[in-house]
Amino acid sequence: MAAPWEDVLRDEPAIQEAASMAVDAALLEGVLMRTEGEPNASDVVNYAPFTLLPSAVPSALFEQAYAVQQDFNLLVDAISQNKEFLERTLASTIKVDDFTARLFRIHVQVLEEGLAQSVFLGINRSDYMFDCGVDGTPALKQIEINTIAASFGGLTSRTAAVHGQVLKVLGKSKEASRLLPNNPSIGLALGIAKAWELYGSQSAVVMFLVEEVQRNIFDQRCVENELWNRNIRVIRKRFRDVFEKGSLDDAKRLYMDGQEVAVVYYREGYVPTNYDQQNWEARLLLERSRAVKCPDIATQLAGTKKVQQELSRPGTLERLLPGRAEAVARIRATFAGLYSLDMGEEGDKIAATAIADPDRFVLKPQREGGGNNLYGEELRQVLEKIRDSPERTSYILMDKIKPQPAMNYLLRAHSPLQVSECISELGIFGVYVRQGKEMVMNKAAGHLLRTKAIEHADGGVAAGVAVLDTPYLV
Ligand code: ADP
Ligand code: MG
Repeated sequence: MAAPWEDVLRDEPAIQEAASMAVDAALLEGVLMRTEGEPNASDVVNYAPFTLLPSAVPSALFEQAYAVQQDFNLLVDAISQNKEFLERTLASTIKVDDFTARLFRIHVQVLEEGLAQSVFLGINRSDYMFDCGVDGTPALKQIEINTIAASFGGLTSRTAAVHGQVLKVLGKSKEASRLLPNNPSIGLALGIAKAWELYGSQSAVVMFLVEEVQRNIFDQRCVENELWNRNIRVIRKRFRDVFEKGSLDDAKRLYMDGQEVAVVYYREGYVPTNYDQQNWEARLLLERSRAVKCPDIATQLAGTKKVQQELSRPGTLERLLPGRAEAVARIRATFAGLYSLDMGEEGDKIAATAIADPDRFVLKPQREGGGNNLYGEELRQVLEKIRDSPERTSYILMDKIKPQPAMNYLLRAHSPLQVSECISELGIFGVYVRQGKEMVMNKAAGHLLRTKAIEHADGGVAAGVAVLDTPYLV
């Protein structure tokens, strides 16, 4: 998978020059983040971290990832409508995991009340690594699918231009011209716009539900601006604002400050720390409303690690997607080994195997946002402690994917320029809109490549571990 820039990697003066140019190009293109010190003001901003060079991605795997995205959209949507499946799958998890349990309770309550929402919008990102088999052939293996607040579709729309310039500075114009155009922010906005249109009220707005700490605002602004360009009004609110100023009318239309809301796009609400009691109440209000939630709470639950693990059981995909054998085969081909830690013989056995050979596995709790998984010795210790307790059912086990590393430079504000051994993770954005029972949009909306130094087992860009990248197809 070697990229054709091995020759310049050790040419220090050339790398130095390219790096300083790359940083300015990133700032010019808008590959930006607010600073850690001032996450809620844009007076001083930084470039978002990125690789100096694009990373090699096998074109066959890249195409495979795009080709399966519509299947994953259908799958997530099918799960979200399958109350029995969610109930059965999450039964053991919600006994021990409070966060999933609270989400689940809202899900049940909303269904009992009767869904007011009739238009559904899904924006997800399916993430993969390229597993290096025993014979050295890389295979596409899914890490997870993010069904809520999948980020970096905006900033990644601007990285190819930066990497193109870097390659030119390094005398690689031909390679620069081969970088693919990529603009998930338009695809995401088109999905939101479609949902807004189907909601059917010209004066209604789209509400971005955002976190208290908004370092990644520019990523969101990219999508927001695409909506403004289409004359759709966007407001940015926090759970706190919804709690204070949100209300429903008799028809469960959602109002914020007297403005009707057609679509709620969550960039918040995916981790326990996003919630206090008031925020839970705000979430419930939003879920009960007629507004299009992206995602609705059932779709958020469809993205849990426990659901991912259950999907890998023989027969499950077939039951969820009846009559779609080809889609099922495409989806299954991307699965790594996934194992339930539910109490019983199956769980006992895999727990023992993982304790004996922890480097083969990753231990995952039902959390999002990076930095939660356990590896190696730590995995062994934790699993040994909980192996006989129901607490273990809040985790799943997954085969560890082992990609072939490549050398690159990771550019980060205030960090020295040094070459690192890196691995990459490819994400494909999926967008779909359903009205009642009818799918009216189902698309792959672009990609995201993130790269990190191999010494970090876990973590994404927001967690400060991975950086933005651009695929160079080989
Ligand atoms: P999160 O919801 O926190 O993003 P992920 O399942 O995406 O959880 O895991 C976080 C990171 O851990 C991934 O971005 C990847 O770098 C690493 N990781 C996760 N699963 C595996 C795996 N099976 N093999 C190797 N690395 C993994
Ligand atoms: Mg992830």
